[in-house]
Amino acid sequence: MAKGITSREQDFSQWYNDLIIKGGLADYSAVRGCMVIKPYGYALWENMRDVLDKMFKDTGHVNAYFPLFVPKSLFEAEEKNAEGFAKECAVVTHYRLKTDPNNKSKLIVDPEAKLEEELVVRPTSEAIIWNTYKGWIQSYRDLPILINQWANVVRWEMRTRLFLRTAEFLWQEGHTAHATKQEALEETTKMLNVYAEFAEKYMALPVVKGVKSENERFAGAEDTYCIEALMQDGKALQAGTSHFLGQNFAKAFDVKFSDKNNQLDYVWATSWGVSTRLIGALAMAHSDDEGLVLPPAIAPIQVVIVPIFKGEEQLTAISAKVSEIVLQLKAYGIKVKYDDTDNARPGWKFAEYELKGVPVRLAIGARDLENNVVEVARRDTKTKESVSLDGIAEYIQNLLVVIQESIFNKAALYRADHTTEANTWEEFKTILDTKGGFVSAHWDGTSETEESIKTETKATIRCIPFDAKEESGTCIFSGKPSNKRVLFARAY
Ligand code: AMP
Repeated sequence: MAKGITSREQDFSQWYNDLIIKGGLADYSAVRGCMVIKPYGYALWENMRDVLDKMFKDTGHVNAYFPLFVPKSLFEAEEKNAEGFAKECAVVTHYRLKTDPNNKSKLIVDPEAKLEEELVVRPTSEAIIWNTYKGWIQSYRDLPILINQWANVVRWEMRTRLFLRTAEFLWQEGHTAHATKQEALEETTKMLNVYAEFAEKYMALPVVKGVKSENERFAGAEDTYCIEALMQDGKALQAGTSHFLGQNFAKAFDVKFSDKNNQLDYVWATSWGVSTRLIGALAMAHSDDEGLVLPPAIAPIQVVIVPIFKGEEQLTAISAKVSEIVLQLKAYGIKVKYDDTDNARPGWKFAEYELKGVPVRLAIGARDLENNVVEVARRDTKTKESVSLDGIAEYIQNLLVVIQESIFNKAALYRADHTTEANTWEEFKTILDTKGGFVSAHWDGTSETEESIKTETKATIRCIPFDAKEESGTCIFSGKPSNKRVLFARAY
């Protein structure tokens, strides 16, 4: 097997780490909980970013950039937000180091360079942004503000995992300001729909849209909407969130506007974000024991061409033909790489590109040239066929669409197979311990019950799905009445 990837069955968690490290997406770093995103992983992030950025702009948003540091007094202003994030904050207390008088080769923090006010390294930017919006908003004419920022944030996570949960991560955070509650609510929904469309259409990742319970809500929000995805080990992953912040931040930062009738009111707010966690989601949802399986719509390389040759002469002839194929593929906008390096055998290259999840591999040898054909191999199904070189670009373009759909359908089927209704507490626990996945069950709506269920089973409410039907039942834990099912799962 390529570079010794642990199988999923053997150790799912190690399999995931192998994918990320050996697939060349990221590397460990000298900093606890922080990782290096390698060029291949970054290319994936760039593709995601480019698609999302266009979707944000198409829905009327613009990009801006705010400081990395938040003065503590600003950070404290919205109490719930501050309290929620306090235990994960990195804080800057000094602005200078100096040579240690007792050991000239060491540096120490200069006690004379203590900051008058500590700076919090942003775990999220509502505070610094709403403090800025205060100066930008006076009248209804200044609204709405529809700003997004691409940035890094720091959350001092205790248990980290490559991409899924890191102490520093890259993300985008939208921060919008509105004149009415209705408009802010519409924005919250609109951006959740953007995330869901992105996840399903580009990442081939089926997601459930819903609202978080109070326990799982973003600190400082009135409501948190989310998209939840299912990984191949039956655990759920929160893939994106969109928060309706009500007037909480406007009140904390005293951001008022005068409406058309000259009445003063607090501004309504939303915020929404997705992070580099999406790369982890992508890897965990689709890949197999040979390595990554990337959906074509987001793959940094969609097609790799490997020549099968003996000697310079054959390579020259093959390369001449491949140049034509590359041009044809590029004309269709297909991202193609020709690997004509002669320091590795074709079999090694095959394994390498399988590990990297390249959706389609073309292999072409001297006999193929004679017959005007190429061997086309699909990464997702591992099937191969010989295809005529006439009209190859169109063939590949169609194939990429088929692969994209097929990866989505496979994930959707897995999710359907791993979404189970439970009507009793025993059933609930058995499902979690045997097949995992989403468990759809009645809940009495209280935080206490949710907490007790979490303590006993490690499962949390992933969301109250937007499409949950009204249905009378009784809570699986407390037996109290309930009027709809919610989705539980063990989660990352
Ligand atoms: P939040 O601001 O908590 O709603 O998070 C916004 C997005 O960032 C969500 O989609 C989370 O899945 C993601 N996220 C939260 N914490 C981390 C982390 N430590 N590492 C990577 N992504 C994260």
